Amino acid sequence: MLSVALAALSGLIWGVGDFSGGKATQRAAVLPVVWISKLISLPLLVIYLIAARSIANFSKGEPPPDPSERELEDVDYRYKCIVCGAQVVLYAAPEGEVPDPPRHCRETMSLVTPVE
Ligand SMILES: [Zn+2]
Repeated sequence: MLSVALAALSGLIWGVGDFSGGKATQRAAVLPVVWISKLISLPLLVIYLIAARSIANFSKGEPPPDPSERELEDVDYRYKCIVCGAQVVLYAAPEGEVPDPPRHCRETMSLVTPVE
C-alpha cells in the first residue's frame, strides 16, 4: 500500500513539474526556465539525500549487547526440585546478579545454598 502511495506521489510531483515547466516556457525562454528549475531542485535533492541517509542510519540502530560478552562470576547455587528432589548446580552466573531459579516438575526449584 505504501509503495502504491509513493508511486502516485512521485507521478503527481513529476506531473506538476512537467506542467509548470511547460507553462513557464510559454512566457519565457526555455534555457532560463531549465536553469531556474535546476537551481530550485538542487537544494531539494540535497535535503532528500540528507533525509534518506538519516533514515538509513536510524533503521540500522545499535545491536543489543551480545549476551556472551557479559562478565560471569563463579558461584555455587544449588537448586532442589520441591516435587521430585532433583538437584541442579549452577557454577557461573552474570556478575552481581542472582539468576531466576530453574523450573522442574512445573514448579520453581528452591535454592538450597545460601546467597552471600
Ligand atoms: Zn522435579
